[in-house]
Amino acid sequence: MSELLFARYAPKTLEPVNSIGAKWERLLDALDLESAVKSRTVCVKMHLGGGTGFTTIHPYFTRVLVRKLREAGAKRVFACDSPGSVLTAVERGYTTETVGCPIVSISGLSDRYVYPRPVNPPFRNFTEVEIGGEVLDAEVLVDFAHVKGHGACGFGGASKNLSMGCVNQKTRGRIHALEGGLNWDESSCTHCGVCEENCPNHAISFDEKGRFDVFYHNCKFCQHCVLICPQKAITMEGGGYRDFQRGMALTTRAVLDNFKPEQRLFINLLTDITIFCDCWGMSTPSLVPDIGILAGRDIVAIEQATLDLIRTEDLIPGSLPPGWELGDKGHLFERIHAKDPYAVIEYLHEFGLGSREYTFREID
Ligand code: SF4
Ligand code: SF4
Repeated sequence: MSELLFARYAPKTLEPVNSIGAKWERLLDALDLESAVKSRTVCVKMHLGGGTGFTTIHPYFTRVLVRKLREAGAKRVFACDSPGSVLTAVERGYTTETVGCPIVSISGLSDRYVYPRPVNPPFRNFTEVEIGGEVLDAEVLVDFAHVKGHGACGFGGASKNLSMGCVNQKTRGRIHALEGGLNWDESSCTHCGVCEENCPNHAISFDEKGRFDVFYHNCKFCQHCVLICPQKAITMEGGGYRDFQRGMALTTRAVLDNFKPEQRLFINLLTDITIFCDCWGMSTPSLVPDIGILAGRDIVAIEQATLDLIRTEDLIPGSLPPGWELGDKGHLFERIHAKDPYAVIEYLHEFGLGSREYTFREID
């Protein structure tokens, strides 16, 4: 059973002292930052978004966190993300001046400053990841994640922030390559186009050489294409999207293995919970009302609690894209993206990264 700190967004009275901004300070005071960061270099891993997407973590929260880390005796503090997001971060309000510390690329601006690490255990041909050198050079890792939906894995939180956010583009590509499960038999295909026309999620296309391509972010594994193909040229194999989540969990483990358990902190912001990942480069309506902030030292517990707090019945009318229909089973994110978001937590738990049982200590 892991204890998590929880600051509820809704204030019990309409006074600044009860607002989420003030509770954020009290939550950080309750985290015992000093034992983790005193005299150490601290990496604050964030997702700084892209394009016109501003519904990421507001710089206010980063600035307070950085100040508290310094007050707790941190030797050096920096925020980081992948090179592309860092280069455009100023467009969305993230600068050294606003957040109070340098903002650096995890792997240098060339994306080549990386350390190879083995995948343990290897999964198919996924045997090695390349992790950002700036992340691994730090002594303390603060996984500061914004929670949102995700087309490829149901949701993005602490695990996605590390697995897709602490590695270079080459490794991200290798994790994405685990997605899917649709096979296409080129020799049977007559290029009639029926599958492309009838995919309800516009996930199928054919490239200039006539090769079948699936955009797995959109694919909901409905098997419509499998059933409708007159040549039986499309088949579906096991794993599917779960293999992507397994790859994420293995990469999360490869990142965390470089930090002692007492030097890992996890903070999930359940605010501006949008349908897609921050890397989509756009902001969309929140799916549910802002919930609050969770923090703790157990990535499995925090991810489990995060999903448990997001309830289908809280879906805000009008928050889904036009024509988007909810499925009828599972978590809200599964009803939206047709991928069980708890799968990644099952894998994180299987790899011994924490407990799915948790208790809350609510910050007043
Ligand atoms: S399984 Fe469904 S969503 Fe995926 S490509 Fe086939 S028809 Fe489209
Ligand atoms: S429906 Fe089958 S035969 Fe037609 S284009 Fe698609 S894969 Fe090829």
